[in-house]
Amino acid sequence: MKTAEIKRRFLAHFEANGHAVVPSAPLPAIDDPNLLFINAGMVQFVPYFLGQRTPQWDRATSVQKCIRTPDIDEVGKTSRHGTFFQMNGNFSFGDYFKAGAIPLAWDLVTKPASEGGFGLDPERIWATVYLDDDEAIEIWKQTGIPSERLVRRGKKDNYWSMGIPGPAGPCSELYYDRGPAYGPEGGPEVDEDRFLEFWNLVFMQYEITNVKSKEIFDVVGELPAKNIDTGMGLERMASLLQGVDNLYEIDEVKPILDRAAELTGKRYGVGSGHVAAESHPDDVRLRVIADHVRTALMLIGDGVTPSNEGRGYVLRRIMRRAIRSMRLLGWQERSLPELLPVARDCMAPSYPELAEDFGRIADYAYAEEEAFLSTLRAGTTILDTAVTETKQAGGTTLSGDQAFQLHDTYGFPIDLTLEIAAEQGLQVDADGFRRLMAEQRSRAKADAQARKTGHVDLSAYRTVLDAGGPVEFTGYAEVSRESR
Ligand code: ATP
Ligand code: MG
Ligand code: MG
Ligand code: MG
Repeated sequence: MKTAEIKRRFLAHFEANGHAVVPSAPLPAIDDPNLLFINAGMVQFVPYFLGQRTPQWDRATSVQKCIRTPDIDEVGKTSRHGTFFQMNGNFSFGDYFKAGAIPLAWDLVTKPASEGGFGLDPERIWATVYLDDDEAIEIWKQTGIPSERLVRRGKKDNYWSMGIPGPAGPCSELYYDRGPAYGPEGGPEVDEDRFLEFWNLVFMQYEITNVKSKEIFDVVGELPAKNIDTGMGLERMASLLQGVDNLYEIDEVKPILDRAAELTGKRYGVGSGHVAAESHPDDVRLRVIADHVRTALMLIGDGVTPSNEGRGYVLRRIMRRAIRSMRLLGWQERSLPELLPVARDCMAPSYPELAEDFGRIADYAYAEEEAFLSTLRAGTTILDTAVTETKQAGGTTLSGDQAFQLHDTYGFPIDLTLEIAAEQGLQVDADGFRRLMAEQRSRAKADAQARKTGHVDLSAYRTVLDAGGPVEFTGYAEVSRESR
């Protein structure tokens, strides 16, 4: 079943059950410095859940475009993590609760494909439930899931909150057993690759306060109006229904991977063919390329453009990683003019605006690749020399000074220096680099101050000294922090 058809059936099922179909919000559509991109279907509905606004419907459904950069290190290595993915959801605003949400999900996934459902084998479905949520257990039992496949888990896995005072509640997740070829028996607690999580049902039931962490807080009481928020990974469902090993092999992603393999002359899947078993590094790279090119397309499509901070920097890093992966596979030409049109053709059935807007998207993408390639040309020789010298001298670490020069003189980003050094088996003196960066920032600040007042203001240096010791370099972490 094509991904676009899974999406269509999902929306049709919930629409037939009284839900308003709400379009996806654009990826960057949030005004929150801690969250650069929408990372779940419920984000656009938060004001309703918090009672700040009254929705015009009491039931809604959507397929939300999502970005989760914290998952970037998993991409290509697990069967189930994309930086971009689509979350299908159904939402109840004070309307139905657990007894409505559980059968709605169960019916859709187990209804035969010939009757408009997804036709998953009910015998292979597992559900996890929060420890004391007996109500959910009882409702799951009525669907026919036996207790052996109902697993109770603690707050870490099965309790949802926003980490702030407000609505919270237990959740319940659906997993599909992909069989012994994928890993050991025992359920989701034993192997999250064989047992693939595909749907999370959140039961917003309580109001919490004194929130110390995601797991430590006080419950004020039951919410007057209880809500439902669910998220089903569209790509994960597609990988199950298309009978492929992982989400980089579904119809919306695999053609990009194939084209990258064709260009670089690599044969994909030389390893065991199963992503979670030892994957050949080339296979991981091909998956990363496919994922990142699609993500770049969707981000630029939603108005993000490459830059040195915030959202634009996330996009820049993702594009650079894809381009560099192509080069590491031996491709020396421009990559994006070959790959981006393939990504467009994959996604246009669901997002026709990408085809209409492709001229603009491609302009940004191709210009960014040009700029990156000249940075690479300038910096790589210098870096290679530094690496060779360090190794010849028997060293294992590139100095902070070398990393800083690369950054300062050639615009060579530190994350790239770290990555290339690691490939060569070397470390980088990151503390030294941070110190030099901090000094440079202070100098700039002092200079600006001096220009303004005519005096050299030493207080900027004081701040650095008073901080005592290394000044934190956050550029790298900030990129992956935004959706926590
Ligand atoms: P996992 O434990 O596999 O990382 P999660 O528990 O972080 O998933 P949720 O926050 O519960 O995921 O999101 C709801 C659903 O969205 C998941 O059940 C899954 O189907 C899908 N999903 C989450 N993260 C990704 C991702 N990076 N790529 C593709 N689908 C995802
Ligand atoms: Mg996750
Ligand atoms: Mg999970
Ligand atoms: Mg989950």
